[in-house]
Amino acid sequence: MSEPNYKVPVGISRCLLGDPVRYNGDHKHNRFCTGVLSDYFEFVSTCPEVEIGMSVPRKPIRLVQLDDQTRALATDDPHQDFTTALEQRGAEYADAHPRLCGFIATPNSPSCGTFGVKLYLPNGHPVNKTSGRFTASLRANNPLLPVEEAGRLNDAGLRENFIMRVFTYHRWLNLRADGLTAKGLVNFHSRHKYLLMAHNYKAYRELGRLVADLSGNDMDALGDQYISQLMQALSAPPERGTHCNVMQHLMGYLKQQIDQQDKQELLRSIEDYRGGVVPLIVPIALLKHHFQRNRQRHQYALQQFYLSPYPHQLGLRSHIH
Ligand code: SF4
Repeated sequence: MSEPNYKVPVGISRCLLGDPVRYNGDHKHNRFCTGVLSDYFEFVSTCPEVEIGMSVPRKPIRLVQLDDQTRALATDDPHQDFTTALEQRGAEYADAHPRLCGFIATPNSPSCGTFGVKLYLPNGHPVNKTSGRFTASLRANNPLLPVEEAGRLNDAGLRENFIMRVFTYHRWLNLRADGLTAKGLVNFHSRHKYLLMAHNYKAYRELGRLVADLSGNDMDALGDQYISQLMQALSAPPERGTHCNVMQHLMGYLKQQIDQQDKQELLRSIEDYRGGVVPLIVPIALLKHHFQRNRQRHQYALQQFYLSPYPHQLGLRSHIH
């Protein structure tokens, strides 16, 4: 269960790659996606509006609340309703790409937007915020898939959390591809324990109980339950305090090995992170340094994905304060 030496398949709204497919013939090129993430992700792009037959350029659409339904309608002609076609496209895309480990969406789009797309009343007044019809359908058809908007990837915490979830889900799909066994699930859980503890202590306890007794259980059903709870627990970034808690737990493995001076230095770096003085990578790097000095003894700690959730070259924890 090491990190892949090939790219991880991730879906993306096509205009983010720089393709001029927007309603106005423009694009929404995102340099972080094409310049950084493309080294790690194999992008599977889609422009749902083009794929349902809309032209470039085209009249824009918007989301309108009709009775208790959200409909995607042409702005200049409410009789042109694209809702069903966009939702079908979302279901087809989910079905065609079961190995996807994440999706990066264009914000504010009535098709691709995910978290804050404006919803209007028929008279044109904004009434609420919702999801675009394509991504709403994609998420309904693949609820485990980590989905994030490109704009939110500018936030260091959300960016790190999304990429961590993509790699975690990728490891899970690889595990399932080989057929889920009790041993495989226990090993997977064991290596994700501290990552889970940092995010959600309650889920850490519950999933620990779930894998404690696997005898006589339907492994497929149990696996579905496990990954559903795990991905839910990882959905929000950890608090600073829970990171500190986990790092102090990990320090416990070094008790017999480090002297008072090293111990003080490690504690100080954890407290400096807690106080916002240094980024998360500082105490993590120090912990790893001490574990690596005695690799044989610290196999268990070194195998924790909390310490290495994705390729370190991404440098994401250098920006987590
Ligand atoms: S936001 Fe989605 S539907 Fe709109 S142009 Fe980009 S890929 Fe196409």
